[in-house]
Amino acid sequence: MSEKRTEISELGEFGLIEKLTGSFSNKVSSTHYGIGDDAAVIERDEENFTLISTDLMMEGVHFNLMYMPLKHLGYKAVATNVSDICAMNGTAEQITVSLAVSNRFPLEALEELYEGIQHACEHFKVDLVGGDTTSSLSGLVINVAVVGKVKKTDIVYRSGAKENDLIVVSGDLGAAYMGLQVLEREKEVFKANPDIQPDLDGHDYILQRQMKPEARVDVVEIFKELKVIPTSMIDISDGLASELLHLSKASKVSCNIYDEKLPIDAKTSMQALEFNINPNTCALNGGEDYELLFTISQKDYETIGANPNFTVIGFISHEGEGNYLIDSNGAVVELSAQGWNHFKD
Ligand code: ADP
Ligand code: MG
Repeated sequence: MSEKRTEISELGEFGLIEKLTGSFSNKVSSTHYGIGDDAAVIERDEENFTLISTDLMMEGVHFNLMYMPLKHLGYKAVATNVSDICAMNGTAEQITVSLAVSNRFPLEALEELYEGIQHACEHFKVDLVGGDTTSSLSGLVINVAVVGKVKKTDIVYRSGAKENDLIVVSGDLGAAYMGLQVLEREKEVFKANPDIQPDLDGHDYILQRQMKPEARVDVVEIFKELKVIPTSMIDISDGLASELLHLSKASKVSCNIYDEKLPIDAKTSMQALEFNINPNTCALNGGEDYELLFTISQKDYETIGANPNFTVIGFISHEGEGNYLIDSNGAVVELSAQGWNHFKD
């Protein structure tokens, strides 16, 4: 190691990944596509690719056991991985689960975690085929890896968006972030006075979006039924703005989205306003919605536009034109990624 010291916070998560992996090149002939998309793409047979992805969740960084039941945590750890396979237009098939646990957890707690994992395995039709277990000195760490499959003719990368394509999202955005804000608020109230019961009434939707996110396997099925293959796709784990910038960078294009088109559930908006947060900010920068963000060519506009699962939010323009959010008065603001930056306080 040299004398030089570069702070990780200067690089951010994606700058760090680029620094660490930039000098690697793939040498194995079956490695079709490595780092840089939601899943790695491996040769399988004439017709199919194998997909591989992994995600790590760390207590205190990604979850707080004060309000996150272990069963939900298990489910979420699987769902977030399955979501990365969906983002390649593929189907998840197997998972492995690795744990680092401190002796703070009794068997019963870990059984509860595995109940959630099992529930997710049944729901997403994946098999748990292995993992690793070790001890931890500071909290619980869960790593799930997922293996999936996609037809070579169906695969969708982050990099395929073309000028004039339309930008589309599934479902609605910002709810998981608002759910987290409610949980954080009630945690603070509880810490100040443990006799006060948490007030979670009426927040079912946003809490469920935070605590039990769903991977959009149904969207992959809908694409098959509608015979639509998006030109590019990514799942929204870090927030719409951040993912849009990944997509336009990978595709070497620019993007334009309209703020009035952002799909936001009424319950999310109401809660945002109660917190004095602009609902659009939640949709743009709140993470963990696990919806799919994709682009389609204009010929698919009527098919996708007519489907209630989808909202067309903007269009792709030429590289170098800039990535913009356009408001209802036509004013434009440059999009910036404020997603989750784990390395900044
Ligand atoms: P996602 O949000 O879809 O899970 P990430 O943003 O975490 O994807 O990762 C982007 C890309 O960088 C992926 O291809 C991922 O496999 C790769 N990657 C992330 N961390 C590392 C690492 N420490 N070493 C090698 N590759 C990594
Ligand atoms: Mg992803």
